[in-house]
Order: sequence, then structure tokens, then C-alpha cells
Amino acid sequence: MRLVTFKHGGSTGFGLMLRDARVLDLARAAGHARAASLGADLSAFIARGAPALTLARTLCEEAEAGRHDGAVLATGSVQLLAPIPRPSKNVFCVGRNYLDHVAESDRVRGADTKAPEFPQFFTKPPTAVIGPDETFVRDPAVSSRMDYEVELGVVIGPGGRDILAEHAFEHVFGYTIVNDVTARDLQRRHDQWFKGKGLDRSCPMGPCIVTRDEIGDPQTLELSLTVNGEQRQHATVSQMIFDIPKLIQSLSAGMTLEAADIISTGTPAGVGFAMNPPRFLQPGDEVICKISRIGTLATRIGGR
Ligand code: MG
Repeated sequence: MRLVTFKHGGSTGFGLMLRDARVLDLARAAGHARAASLGADLSAFIARGAPALTLARTLCEEAEAGRHDGAVLATGSVQLLAPIPRPSKNVFCVGRNYLDHVAESDRVRGADTKAPEFPQFFTKPPTAVIGPDETFVRDPAVSSRMDYEVELGVVIGPGGRDILAEHAFEHVFGYTIVNDVTARDLQRRHDQWFKGKGLDRSCPMGPCIVTRDEIGDPQTLELSLTVNGEQRQHATVSQMIFDIPKLIQSLSAGMTLEAADIISTGTPAGVGFAMNPPRFLQPGDEVICKISRIGTLATRIGGR
């Protein structure tokens, strides 16, 4: 299933995308009596676990068979938001998780390429999250070196602590696309990544969360990113230094992961600061992140 959060007629709801790309409003399809068992939003839905998923699957099949017409929203009347528009905690992120990106970064610094021995975690605040087709507003008083990073986002289902790699996928609800928009000057100046990675609107996410069963093996997913139509990044998830089970094992060691937590798993080569000469994002640019079997996530760059 492809789960979405949307705005329709002034209110926010959640649902799933049907085969023809129309959106099924899950609460409306469930009806008053059953809507409560789905939860109030997509985060709550994820926390409800298997019973909510089973109900959603039934409603989806019924809608594909022509039922629940009143709950199917017309294309064009729906604005997709980030699937989890305001996460309850920071978005977990992984730095330097593709060797070609490690190499290009080290080259810019004049250092030898050295793959990390352990995953490098940092976070982006919930206030950074925006949805598909939204605008990142560049403020030159804050940063003149804005950059992009296409990444696979892993959404946690059943929470846990000390999760072993061999059980990690049991804790994965699904996958989404994240653009880890980064102020390179701030990242460098503060000698710690949080500030340069945490600006408002610097975490475009979406357009949907695709459930784990529908993705199958995430190693085969292909990521790519274009700026104004020019391809800058292209890789497969199999190129990660630390794969998803290793990331979950490492992050959850002694630290509880909860339902609807998001882990952005790192970016491959091709970022703007490593180009020669460097090419940073400018007002008017359009960045499109794409991951196979998930979709596309477009972000416009605004501001001065
Ligand atoms: Mg990143």
C-alpha cells in the first residue's frame, strides 16, 4: 500500500493511493464505527500495527473493486503533505553511508578516503519537514551554500530496543523519500552537522510511505536526483556501507525506536559541494528526488 497524508477541502486526512493514483480517504471509507481503530493520523495508524493495516488493506481492495466511491477523492482536489508532516521526534539521519559520496567529500577536503567504521548518526528537527511540491526558502543571510541529498527514508513500525540485524525488517513499516537539504557553510562553520542540516523546510519528505511488503528487497531500489532536469545523483541502495539491518541494530542499541520514527539512510555521490566548481542551489531551481517503486519528490528553491 502507498499511504499518504493529504489536505482536502481545508481539512487534513490520511489514506492510500489507488492504482489510478486517486486517493482513498481511509477514515471516510471505514465509517464512523471503525474509523477510531485506524488512529487519528498516519503516525497513529502506524502505531496501531497489524489490525489497522489489515483494515486498510480490506478497504483498499473494496475501493479497487468499485466500493467506497464517496471516500475516493477526485484527482486535483487533493494536496499531498509529507506522509508524517510533524514527526513526534527528530528525523534520524545517517552521514557518509555511500563510499562514492565519502570519497567525493574527502577529495574536496584534500583527505584520503576513509570509510566510517561505525554509522555516523545525526538528526533533523521535526520543524524541518515539508511535503512534496513545497518550497525551501533560501535566506542568504543564513546560508549561501545550500545543497541537496536524495535519501531512502525508513519508517519504523513496531518499536524496539537492542534490535538485532536479523530481526530488523520486522520493525520496518515502510519506505519514503527524503531530501536531506543541507547548508554546507553552516555544517562546516559549526563543526557539527545539526545546525547545517536543521534549517526550517530542509527536510522535504514523501510523496507516500510504501509498505514493506510492497517494496520487497530494498537493496534493489534505485535513487536519483535531478536539478532543473540535469541528473546529479544516481545509485542503488545496495551501495550503502551500512545496510538497513545494520543501521537499525546500531541505532537501537540502548536507544528505543518507536512507531513512525524515520531514519534517512544517507546519500550517494553527486552532491553540489563536491562538483568542480561547486554548484549550490539557487532561487528558481527545481530539485526532483526519485526512488524506484516509491515515486518522486519535487522541491522548489525560493528566496533571494
Ligand atoms: Mg544526508
